[in-house]
Amino acid sequence: IKTIGVVTSGGDAPGMNAALRAVVRACSYYKLRCKGIRLGYEGLITNNIVELGPRSVSNIINRGGTILKTARCAEFRTEEGRKKAYENIKKNEIDALIVIGGDGSFTGAHNFEKEFGIPTLGVPGTIDNDIFGTDNTIGYDTALNTVINAIDKIRDTATSHNRMFFIEVMGRDAGFIALNSGIASGAQDILIPEKKDEIEELFEAIQRGEKAGKLSNIIVVAEGEELGGVYDLAKFTKMKYPKYDIRVTVLGHIQRGGEPTCADRVLASRLGVAAVEGLMEGRSSVMAGIRSNNVVFTPFDEAIVKQNVINNELIRIADILAR
Ligand code: ADP
Repeated sequence: IKTIGVVTSGGDAPGMNAALRAVVRACSYYKLRCKGIRLGYEGLITNNIVELGPRSVSNIINRGGTILKTARCAEFRTEEGRKKAYENIKKNEIDALIVIGGDGSFTGAHNFEKEFGIPTLGVPGTIDNDIFGTDNTIGYDTALNTVINAIDKIRDTATSHNRMFFIEVMGRDAGFIALNSGIASGAQDILIPEKKDEIEELFEAIQRGEKAGKLSNIIVVAEGEELGGVYDLAKFTKMKYPKYDIRVTVLGHIQRGGEPTCADRVLASRLGVAAVEGLMEGRSSVMAGIRSNNVVFTPFDEAIVKQNVINNELIRIADILAR
């Protein structure tokens, strides 16, 4: 291969820029050309493609978001859309494609490779940490730190007013952000989709807190939690315990922004280089990840279908520590 294309796709995550920088700089190191596709797969279809050199990625290692921009592109889900993308890949003499994104983006890359034989390699970028084949995804650590900073602030006001706060955090269908930020911020209860929480369990946790003399409470709720959402949970709790002064905070998109943490910058740098080296070694239809501190490549088929599992030890200690 002589030219590698790189695209950021799907939901953005802090550290995507650091990954992009690593791809571009590794290409330069190995004397490969690098082309950046703007706006996710949309840029492939509309030929929104720019040449990237080592200086094009100066001063971005510390910036959240993605300078290439990202998008959700419906047209890439169709064969005609991918045909147009292939024509632009040829026009730009791109021999292989690195996709920084989530499992939706990998599914698109996988289909594209199967149809047109362009080697593709994935780099997991999402705050949700819901991708199999890597211990952490790029952006996850930053999001966790943003969440605990926010909850620390909420704790100050919760304590001052003896209030109970229900705090909704992101994670799509996964509870990684909720579970880990809940432990790190000392939550009284953590509701995640992986755990079949009964509302009774929440009430027990609240009662335990009361018996233990707690006057304020932080309850962390994953957005994918199936009990009807954070507002309903707060309403049910108020009906059951009218004496509690309850507030709801939905942290929302602040979790997706901000400068990446050291851990995310290092992860992104390692995976960006691994992606270029992986393609040079002839790997394709795989995702680069880090497991037990080693670079590993997981076939897209597996990365897309399998789920990262929640560590039961974390659920157990969260319960022990909330007493
Ligand atoms: P993420 O990569 O963060 O999971 P999405 O699920 O939105 O985000 O996927 C990003 C993009 O990948 C979509 O907008 C679409 O262009 C492409 N994509 C997703 N699924 C498919 C598919 N089955 N076939 C082709 N392209 C897909």
